[in-house]
Amino acid sequence: MRFKAVSQDNDNKLDNAVETLRAIKKQVRRFIIPSVTQVSFKDDPYQVLISCILSLRTKDKTTLEATGRLFQLADNPYDMLKLSARRVAKIIYPVGFYRNKAKVILGISKSIIFDFKGKVPKKPEELLGLKGVGRKTANLVLGLGYHIPAICVDTHVHRISNRLGWIRTDTPQESEEALEKIILRNRWIELNTILVTFGQNICLPVLPFCTRCAVSNACKKAGVKHFR
Ligand code: SF4
Repeated sequence: MRFKAVSQDNDNKLDNAVETLRAIKKQVRRFIIPSVTQVSFKDDPYQVLISCILSLRTKDKTTLEATGRLFQLADNPYDMLKLSARRVAKIIYPVGFYRNKAKVILGISKSIIFDFKGKVPKKPEELLGLKGVGRKTANLVLGLGYHIPAICVDTHVHRISNRLGWIRTDTPQESEEALEKIILRNRWIELNTILVTFGQNICLPVLPFCTRCAVSNACKKAGVKHFR
């Protein structure tokens, strides 16, 4: 009996998430999609990886402009290694931590050439072995770069999934595991793009636009004290 109750609960959560996600996807269609998703249309895992590194703690517009400047000179690890760390830093400025990111980008490019024969690795553990690559970046490369189902949990995905009441978690890693149980596998890749766009335009970190939100009725608004 207990198993049945738990299973029923998971089924309800799954149905609820499917419907809610569909409505959010419809609402965000008119907004600009995140910079890394835009870069992923070139279908190049290396560019997804580098763009993701640049995007960390940086506004999307700044990331996109820096990505464009950098890829004009070097859009593969071989050309990247022809540049010095100083040059890369100058090109990607003003992204956050640009000096450190320049070193990380060159380190990753070197490792891809010497350890992986010039190709971005496809295995999560190998991606996570690259210096400067965490779970969020690794999952984004798997999903957007290689079309391998993976849930990339960043600050938007973590916050919104909890506010909606889909999950109750404290860390992005817990969120990733919890979301894997209630989001259909064929939605894992697009989940990040949908919720990041939603988080940048409607479900803002501070003072979300709940009165214009397409899923306000289905949302538990967990932890939301003030909204517009
Ligand atoms: S109702 Fe408010 S808190 Fe809930 S998803 Fe919409 S904007 Fe976010």
